[in-house]
Amino acid sequence: MLAQRIASILPSLSRQEAIEVTRIQSITGDLAGGLASVRPFRAPHHSITTAGLVGGAGGRWVGEVVLAHNGVLFLDELSEFTRPTLEALRQPLEDGRVAVVRANHSAVYPARFMLVAATNPCPCGYAGDGERCRCTEGDMARHRRRLSGPLLDRVDVVAHLERDGAHDLHATPLTSSERARERVTAARERQSARLKEDGVAMNAHMDVRMLLKHARLDAKGEAMVRRALETGLLSARGQHRVLGVARTIADLHASERVRTRDVGAALALRAEVGLEGSRAA
Ligand SMILES: [Zn+2]
Repeated sequence: MLAQRIASILPSLSRQEAIEVTRIQSITGDLAGGLASVRPFRAPHHSITTAGLVGGAGGRWVGEVVLAHNGVLFLDELSEFTRPTLEALRQPLEDGRVAVVRANHSAVYPARFMLVAATNPCPCGYAGDGERCRCTEGDMARHRRRLSGPLLDRVDVVAHLERDGAHDLHATPLTSSERARERVTAARERQSARLKEDGVAMNAHMDVRMLLKHARLDAKGEAMVRRALETGLLSARGQHRVLGVARTIADLHASERVRTRDVGAALALRAEVGLEGSRAA
């Protein structure tokens, strides 16, 4: 449910984004008429082929990653996707575009999307829930192996959700989608203003040079990151990604400075911390 709400808290499409989305829809024949106004939300089933996901031989020219351009790509049951399919996501996640080769032709398409994924803690889904989990050590190891590696290294935020109890349904919501969208939009505006000279519009698209310039840490923040690196909680790649997330958390609080607490919050959201044992596996 959270994943499906994400598109609703993102800012509306800019004119440039709308033109890009419309162009893609015109390739696939999905054009509804006029300029696209809705941010794409794609949720392919885990049985999808690599070609279906990224385009190319056996699939269409335009895969799900291109259809999700400027929007959200949601992978439910992440551990059920095949390893080669997940590996194929690395190029678009890294470059924001995908090269498709089919027969004697090749083409490059834009594929910049927000990746959102969900997975059970174990194959049966009950791990951590008393005695109910029936998975063997082998099942658990296989499950963790499928989730580990280079793809997870590119995931910025991991959140654990408890099995929903009946009481949750009556709890007072912490925020509404509308309020969340206002905060996200304000944070995005701060980012695009700051990054104007760098030629990108949001924190997620900063390269290392921009990160070091715009997400400068104070001595306390530096020490916190250093400790996480030394204890193996953070990888070298993760170090830069944590800076980006800390920058965004500061933006959500309208803070021009990246504060120590923003770094702490970003570290707590890392996959290494969130998916216990996945790195060791
Ligand atoms: Zn289980």
